[in-house]
Amino acid sequence: MDLKCKICGDNNKKGIELLGAHICRECEKNIMKAKINDIRYNYYKLVIKKVWLDYILTSF
Ligand SMILES: [Zn+2]
Repeated sequence: MDLKCKICGDNNKKGIELLGAHICRECEKNIMKAKINDIRYNYYKLVIKKVWLDYILTSF
């Protein structure tokens, strides 16, 4: 399993698996805390969308 965080790119951090992608605890917390008007919110949204698309594409 690839332990590189999909969001910050750090290796070997403990975290969660989201649709086959690794997301570290710090980024998970940041996602939860991000406000809609936060610039990072849009970035997280894009990354999660990409993770989701990759997941769908590899499922077929
Ligand atoms: Zn991270």
